[in-house]
Amino acid sequence: MTLIVTGSIGIDTVHTPFGKAERVLGGSCTYFAAAASFYGPVRMVAAVGGDFTDEHHGALKRFPNVCVQGLEVRPGSKTFAWGGRYLDNMNDRETLFTELGVLAEDPPTPPEAYRDSRYVFLANTHPAVQRELLEHFPDRALAVADTMNLWIDTARDDLLALLAEVDGLLLNDEEARLLVEERNPITAAKRILDLGPTFAVVKKGEHGCVMAHREGLAALPAYPLEQVVDPTGAGDSFAGGMMGAIASGAASESGQPPTRQEALALETLQRSLAHGAVVASFTVESFSLDRLAAIDRGAIDDRLARFSQVVRVG
Ligand code: AMP
Repeated sequence: MTLIVTGSIGIDTVHTPFGKAERVLGGSCTYFAAAASFYGPVRMVAAVGGDFTDEHHGALKRFPNVCVQGLEVRPGSKTFAWGGRYLDNMNDRETLFTELGVLAEDPPTPPEAYRDSRYVFLANTHPAVQRELLEHFPDRALAVADTMNLWIDTARDDLLALLAEVDGLLLNDEEARLLVEERNPITAAKRILDLGPTFAVVKKGEHGCVMAHREGLAALPAYPLEQVVDPTGAGDSFAGGMMGAIASGAASESGQPPTRQEALALETLQRSLAHGAVVASFTVESFSLDRLAAIDRGAIDDRLARFSQVVRVG
């Protein structure tokens, strides 16, 4: 599987009703890569600063399928750092601080060995950086992006230029509302298609997701969990499960890595949503990437089987 991701590697400080995690490994690229790594090797293109400790490196190494050849360490710079606090409902969160650090510098360059990447995921980072990475892969089969409030507010033009070039967009309901000024998530997802992509997935936290696609609609609840410890990274892990399943062939009818046409088919994408929901359900069971580091592909497949019983229709 030739899946590549760029985005943030973060040092996160997170408060939830269950406690606090201080300066732990996080970031959009990190959660994505760890989640997708259960399906095959994942190539990471990202940068960290001199404050990225051995412990942070060690936490990343727990995912042997994550290839870090494209990880740049910049000793004189600071790693992206983010702080957030979840309210009692565990769905709403307040950003306490965002320190861009290396995200405000020149983007990292993908290594030559990554040039044959067919499936590209642009995890949450500045949309100009996302676009720049895309240019390295003119022969890609599929390009999908994620974004968030900060970039919709501060880099809308770059984001709109990016949307004209990607096949799919993932974002949460609040972000979708901000982007297209539409409260209903289905209508918002459909409006996003007018901006360029073939599909748009709007995630609604514990209420699941809807996908608008040029050929129709799909929807899925979240995997039902009785206890959520820390929702950080759920969106990125959802994307990782989804893209890992697509790039490895786990979401294809044939079981083979898909052509561009197969990858973009509504059926393939719809199957991939369940993988996203299941992998995300593990992430939220602990702080940082701790729960993901403790599972294997078998645990994902077991939960997928249980999920298909839970959502059976007809
Ligand atoms: P999620 O909960 O899926 O939205 O992802 C949370 C992760 O995104 C955290 O680990 C943060 O380090 C990272 N993050 C938060 N804000 C940003 C941002 N503006 N750009 C890139 N990554 C971010």
